Amino acid sequence: MTDILTTSRRVAWSHPHLDRKLTEGAGYTLVATAPMAKGELLVVWGGIIVDTATLRTLPEMAQHRSIQVEEDLHLTSGMVDDLADCVNHSCNPNAGLQGQIALIALRDIAAGEEVCFDYAMCDGDPSFRMTCLCGQPNCRGVITGDDWRIPELQQRYKGYFSPYLQRRIDRLNGC
Ligand SMILES: [Zn+2]
Repeated sequence: MTDILTTSRRVAWSHPHLDRKLTEGAGYTLVATAPMAKGELLVVWGGIIVDTATLRTLPEMAQHRSIQVEEDLHLTSGMVDDLADCVNHSCNPNAGLQGQIALIALRDIAAGEEVCFDYAMCDGDPSFRMTCLCGQPNCRGVITGDDWRIPELQQRYKGYFSPYLQRRIDRLNGC
């Protein structure tokens, strides 16, 4: 069993009913290969924890394969080519965060459906900015590291934000 420490080519866990698919224009996407129930655990990310200054010195790939987990702390899978890093953003997601490093189903997910979450749930870096091509009717067009401030998203994703963002939201709203 200890072989996994030396031979594993992955650092995250993903549900066996998930696979990645190469999609024209969108790169890899994470897709359900069988129906999944609301609340089911989909992914637990792994890797190493670095502060923001260190993250910015890493190769672009390692920066891309990261998620902010606390103020000034990020989890990156580094150069590991992990299935779990293929989760894309959607403005109408079917998955959300549970705690800092886990992704769960927000609703039932059908076989063949792409698994997405909203980067507003984890991204609190004000310099982050991304054009969104999710194509959903409620698409925000541009996704930023300040989207957690949007009251409608605070309502919709209550319980699914990274804890450090939920603390910011609570402070902002005087809770
Ligand atoms: Zn969008």
